[in-house]
Amino acid sequence: AEELLRDSERKFRAIFDNTFQLMGLLDPAGRVIEINRTALDAFAVTLDDVVGQTFWTTPWWTHYPDVQLQLQQAIVQAATGQFVRFEAPSVLADGTHFWVDFSLSPIFDATGKVVMLIPEGRDITDRKQIESALQESRSRYRALVTSAPVGIFQTDAAGKCLFINQRCLELIGATLAEALGEGWANTLHPDDRESVDRQWHIAVQAQQEFTLEHRFLTPQGRVNWVFTKAIGIYDESGTLSGYIGTAMDITERKATAQKIQEQAALLDIATDAIIVRDLDSQIQFWNKGAESIYGWLATEAVGRNTTQLFYTDVPPEVTIAAQIVRQQDAWQGELRKLTKTGREVIVESRWTLVRDEAGHPTSILSVDTDITDKKQLEQQFLRAQRLESLGSLASGIAHDLNNVLTPIVGAAQLLPMTLPNLDDRSRRLLNMLVESSKRGSGLVRQILTFARGLDGERTVLQVRHILTELISVARQTFPKSIEIQVNNDREDLWMVNVDATQIHQVLMNLFVNARDAMPDGGSLTASTENMVIDTDSAQLQLPAGTYILITIADTGMGMTSEILDRIFEPFFTTKKTGTGLGLSTVQGIVKAHGGAIEVESEIGRGTCFKIYLPAIHNKEAESSDAAADSYDGKGQLVLVVDDESAIREIAKESLETSNYRVMLASDGIEAID
Ligand code: ADP
Ligand code: MG
Repeated sequence: AEELLRDSERKFRAIFDNTFQLMGLLDPAGRVIEINRTALDAFAVTLDDVVGQTFWTTPWWTHYPDVQLQLQQAIVQAATGQFVRFEAPSVLADGTHFWVDFSLSPIFDATGKVVMLIPEGRDITDRKQIESALQESRSRYRALVTSAPVGIFQTDAAGKCLFINQRCLELIGATLAEALGEGWANTLHPDDRESVDRQWHIAVQAQQEFTLEHRFLTPQGRVNWVFTKAIGIYDESGTLSGYIGTAMDITERKATAQKIQEQAALLDIATDAIIVRDLDSQIQFWNKGAESIYGWLATEAVGRNTTQLFYTDVPPEVTIAAQIVRQQDAWQGELRKLTKTGREVIVESRWTLVRDEAGHPTSILSVDTDITDKKQLEQQFLRAQRLESLGSLASGIAHDLNNVLTPIVGAAQLLPMTLPNLDDRSRRLLNMLVESSKRGSGLVRQILTFARGLDGERTVLQVRHILTELISVARQTFPKSIEIQVNNDREDLWMVNVDATQIHQVLMNLFVNARDAMPDGGSLTASTENMVIDTDSAQLQLPAGTYILITIADTGMGMTSEILDRIFEPFFTTKKTGTGLGLSTVQGIVKAHGGAIEVESEIGRGTCFKIYLPAIHNKEAESSDAAADSYDGKGQLVLVVDDESAIREIAKESLETSNYRVMLASDGIEAID
């Protein structure tokens, strides 16, 4: 039996000394009976150092008065037969701290009395470290989630809300209880509900990341724009276990974007050109108004240099303006710039220097108002005024000249009749006198027609006569290098009801334009013909009916289609001294008469204008053109009243030659007498 006991004793001692656990043996009062080797080594003490000491005063606990107290109580408790366990810190001989999972087990004798206590300690330093790291990470995470300025939520794989932070609840406008599960969707904006549902569904089905911009409408009536992004979380087996997501408040950004859009729309409905350029004149912004004034699209203009875009040579005032805007932050003035097609426009330009937040100049904003038309109108007005005074002056002179010429013509015509024996040479001379004087009075009549202005009355007349008159003026005044051909001798040309002065002006303008188109000479052809339009003409915008057609054609320089498109615009001219008013007046008059204009032109070949005027086509209106060269007065009495005695005389002579009797009076009173 002794042998067996020793054997057992050896086995247990071997286990006792070699286990990694710290182990000992105490009496019920807590005094040390045994301590195993692992524990002795850890604290570099021998058994003799500690045997008989109360366990709580041993070196293991000397640094921890709290633990000593706890141990003391634990021993009292264990001595009553209870198993006690707690975790405690300790310190090794080399100074390293460590944690033990400590227990006290009572050992009973056969009578159930506690005879010994077994203290046991397991090093749990690693576990403790992980635990505290975990603890730390958890509280960090909690702080983050609660203090984050973004909404954070977590859902299960079906999209039901499991967790949601305070910020997210604010965005949604719900309480935690309301938001959990499917409740979060209740405050989705009605207009966005469908798209969020669909996208969320698609993302959940496809197990994909979900991103969307949408709105919540809170019960308080607030609209919150959010940018939501959620990513799937997967368990170890790779199946989707849910989503974690963030919701960012983008209400302000949306409002700003909206505002910017509104402002851009405003800029685009402005008819003024609004342009932003940097300090090197590179264009950064170009609105619709700029597109229509300058002809360049924003895509063409942005990035280019204003000086290259607007000028062939930068005028000095632009350089000065650039200096002024930098010194005084603003400049205002008139500028002449070129459009894409090379046309010159006059603009009222206002420049402002734009600065950044730090006050450094960054760009120049300019607003240009097109005042080309206004400027031209001003000039035109001045010219019209000058013409008007010139007109009344001219008509005065013409009137006097007429009085001078009439007796000359009369006398020259009468002389051959009163001197039947005149020799041929004298007759020729007299003839020449008649012809020249007639030409003179023709010119005078022209001036009078012109000076009388636009407000004439309409009369039924033959256009042929107006044209003949004009052709004779043209023959006398146009350069001899221009040959004038006429096809205007149709006696049956229909009559028209027109304002003679205005039709005269129409033809005059076309003649002058034709002349201008042939600086090196050429030929001008004028012709008239009758024209019946059977069905309403959409092309000419004329109703069916009878018309006369006047054609004025030249063999001049012709026009490009770009020019042709614009010739009827008031003030459109390609000439240095042109007014650009000729054709617009022509069109105005022809339209007012119920007519139409047609133009054909070919570069280098010439141009042909066709004027359609409604005709009066009936017998009564046709006048006999037969010119009566000789009259027989049959002795009838004529009273002649004129304040010019020369005219009275010549009238008397010529009437008497034609067998009239004549009475003369120099004014109204005398005539009545
Ligand atoms: P202006 O004669 O003062 O220039 P108009 O209105 O009479 O103004 O004519 C406008 C423009 O139309 C002219 O500048 C010219 O370019 C073009 N044009 C008119 N008639 C002719 C023509 N017969 N041949 C070529 N170009 C013409
Ligand atoms: Mg003209």
